[in-house]
Amino acid sequence: MFPSRFDYVAATSVDEAIAAKGDGGDETRILAGGQSLLPMMKIRLANPSKLVDINGIPGLDVLERVNGHLRVGALVRHADMVASDLTFGAVESAAPWISDPLVRNRGTVCGSVSHCDPEGDWNSVLLATGADVVARGPSGERVIPIGDFVVDLFTNALNEDEMVTEIRIPVPSGRSGGAYLKLERKVGDYATVAVAAHLELGGGGVITKAGLALTSVAPHNLKVTDAEAALVGEMPSEALFAEAGELAAAASSPRDDVRGTAEWKRQVVRTFARRALATAAASAG
Ligand SMILES: Cc1cc2nc3c(=O)[nH]c(=O)nc-3n(C[C@H](O)[C@H](O)[C@H](O)COP(=O)(O)OP(=O)(O)OC[C@H]3O[C@@H](n4cnc5c(N)ncnc54)[C@H](O)[C@@H]3O)c2cc1C
Repeated sequence: MFPSRFDYVAATSVDEAIAAKGDGGDETRILAGGQSLLPMMKIRLANPSKLVDINGIPGLDVLERVNGHLRVGALVRHADMVASDLTFGAVESAAPWISDPLVRNRGTVCGSVSHCDPEGDWNSVLLATGADVVARGPSGERVIPIGDFVVDLFTNALNEDEMVTEIRIPVPSGRSGGAYLKLERKVGDYATVAVAAHLELGGGGVITKAGLALTSVAPHNLKVTDAEAALVGEMPSEALFAEAGELAAAASSPRDDVRGTAEWKRQVVRTFARRALATAAASAG
């Protein structure tokens, strides 16, 4: 199928993109890698009246560590994350799991984050690591914690006249580790179940910060706050990670579908959460 008719604006600056987006209201969409938007337009699940292409805006491909953060600009592709030696922990672990080389070469991290597909991998990684989303609108910039940015299924916290310019992932300064475990039916597929884990350890090895988030088992990527709270202040152990796995399974709400039963997916959450935390602790140690 072909998409419905739409206007097309090739923006050359963020200000131009914001102005063009604001003009069209809800019916205008930013075009980044097009890897989610164009398939949706072809099957008429999305019918924007205007696309604002940001691919020609200089500077949005920034990928750097600055002020204790990894800055990932709006035009950083999944493949850039795979190739980069600036990534760490769960970020580094997740990058090669995003789809296949074709999609990774075009699709952007910020596009995936904006799309808020519960089967998308990046938002779980950002929830586990405590990242921020930077949005720009006509009145300037605002920094939105990822937990507030992900509102619901395919719904983010952006205003109509805002776009994401970058995400900022805190880079731990001490002992830390992370992992992303993903079960997929075939190479390049979306997750049947995936788990992102991030741990930071203090003096004596006690857990000072914990992040745990789930993909494909709830209406949106899910931060398992109960499990995180149970981990902080404790020494890493198999029993502790098993308890966190139980809490993660209880928090998830998977559905029966062609990929498997809800009960089986919950068991995968339980096992993957335990293993991802053990891997994170081992790499932190
Ligand atoms: C075959 C296939 C397999 C895939 N498998 C996976 C997978 O395993 N894991 C995974 O995580 N993803 C997967 N994806 C999705 C892929 O990661 C997309 O690249 C990503 O979801 C969207 O990024 P994009 O840059 O292509 O965004 P686009 O498709 O250009 O945009 C997606 C949405 O986000 C909005 N948007 C984009 N950029 C911005 C911005 N800067 N500010 C505000 N709004 C913005 C758009 O308006 C649109 O609504 C797959 C896609 C395909 C086609």
